[in-house]
Amino acid sequence: MPQQGTSAEFFKSRIRNVPDFPKPGILFYDITTLLRDPEGFKAAIDSLAAPFAGAGIEVVVGIESRGFILGGPVADRLGAGFCPIRKPGKLPAATLRESFSLEYGTDSIEIHTDAIRPGQRVLVVDDVLATGGTAKAAASLVKGLGGTLHGLAFLIELDFLSGREKLTGEQVTSVLHY
Ligand code: AMP
Repeated sequence: MPQQGTSAEFFKSRIRNVPDFPKPGILFYDITTLLRDPEGFKAAIDSLAAPFAGAGIEVVVGIESRGFILGGPVADRLGAGFCPIRKPGKLPAATLRESFSLEYGTDSIEIHTDAIRPGQRVLVVDDVLATGGTAKAAASLVKGLGGTLHGLAFLIELDFLSGREKLTGEQVTSVLHY
């Protein structure tokens, strides 16, 4: 549920729905129209961070690339550091890689091996939880480095894709549901 009195309608009225992007049959939730609105951007960060206030989060991990836009301010709000998870070949130092299945084929994401110290409390942030493949891979990377995964926070969850089922046992929060 939206935090701090911000209604789902407030967010949904600021998110642009783009049919058939990036391919036919996909309804793309474009958050750029929310982010460009000062009240919308602030409310999004407030709502993502609020469930984790006082939880002792030490590192916020953002998933490329909209997870960077949201994860950075959430980290600042929680008094945590920020670390990026990126597509292969983008991070300059030693990395840990995790692959996951897509509808057709596979994809991979990477994290710097020194991004999280063993035992640090970590929150993963991304814009959309769809099938959950990306988030599950991110969770594996955090745990692979010895991090304590406190939770995963999304702005939007697509309930009909059941991504949450791939994250059984984790604390998953979503500001909005479609
Ligand atoms: P998934 O691994 O299927 O959960 O996909 C998650 C990633 O794909 C997120 O990083 C989203 O940015 C992006 N994504 C998937 N579906 C949508 C959608 N309908 N609208 C916007 N972004 C999406």
